[in-house]
Amino acid sequence: MIQINTIKAAQKTIKNKVMRTPLVPAFSLSNEQREVRIKLETTQAIGAFKLRGAVNALQQLNPKQKQQGVVCASTGNHGRALAYAAQKLNIKATICMSSLVPQNKIAAIEKLGADVRIQGQCQDDAQALVAQLVESKQMIEIPPFDHEDIIAGQGTIGLEILEDWPEVDTLLIGLSGGGLLGGIALAVKSINPNIQVIGLSPKRGAAMAASLANGIETEVEELPTLADSLGGGIGNPNRYTFKLVQRYMDDLLLLSETQIKDAMQHLFFKESLVVEGAGAVGVAALIDQNLAQQLKQPLGKNIAIIASGRNVDMDKYLTLMGESKN
Ligand SMILES: *Cc1c(COP(=O)(O)O)cnc(C)c1O
Repeated sequence: MIQINTIKAAQKTIKNKVMRTPLVPAFSLSNEQREVRIKLETTQAIGAFKLRGAVNALQQLNPKQKQQGVVCASTGNHGRALAYAAQKLNIKATICMSSLVPQNKIAAIEKLGADVRIQGQCQDDAQALVAQLVESKQMIEIPPFDHEDIIAGQGTIGLEILEDWPEVDTLLIGLSGGGLLGGIALAVKSINPNIQVIGLSPKRGAAMAASLANGIETEVEELPTLADSLGGGIGNPNRYTFKLVQRYMDDLLLLSETQIKDAMQHLFFKESLVVEGAGAVGVAALIDQNLAQQLKQPLGKNIAIIASGRNVDMDKYLTLMGESKN
């Protein structure tokens, strides 16, 4: 299993190649009882935190592996991060995706010089193509979450938050494959086990939630959601993140599409922040009383939200922001 030292090493490895992002106060979400701050992973070069894991993973490759090139299946931001990091390090990247991935994300990855391959209707189909390329072309697979170097890279967010705000007592983190939540939770709980880690996933396609409920990797139907970066399964077998989430996550909230939209609108209208659905979910637990009441334990006084990404289709985003509040 990954240790805190692996995450500390990743912090050194990615330094100067990845933004050390600001943790800014969110006055519209704070009140006399609580202070809320937002970790702006939206300010990363590719607009999402996934650059951390990708840069860390690529830096660990030996010269021969670098020559073989890297490949992944991605719903968007991981592919973008891997493409960007690979281009910087002069490594060839091939990105496999399903046809559910929005066009803006595909175009962005091609622009970064990566070879994009589209296969099938779901993450599993894209994953089958990765296996094929690993087998036939000896490419090195860098998966989106279930990989030690990726988890350690994402975990550096936890170290930065604690450096900037040692008093933090609650973290609200979007959850899909669990690289983000698993890495951060491992980092912060190794330093302060009392920090509460709450995951948030869309109801539509909550594979990790189903897997936790069943105690085993479980597939669910993949459905389009406003939090499209939280789509996709957890992999089977899952090697690392399922256990990490089982062990370190204190609570999990499942969000309706309306709740995700309200969270995105709140960040836009009240904080002037463009954040994609997956990055806005933490806000929902703070503005929706129904969600807050579902928590096993009340929220703490010093709450950090991870605004994990800002990659939206702008036409859809503008329409969404123009829709009236419910
Ligand atoms: C990938 C991603 C997540 C979720 O990360 P996991 O490691 O799969 O749980 C959250 N937000 C954004 C913007 C992402 O791209």
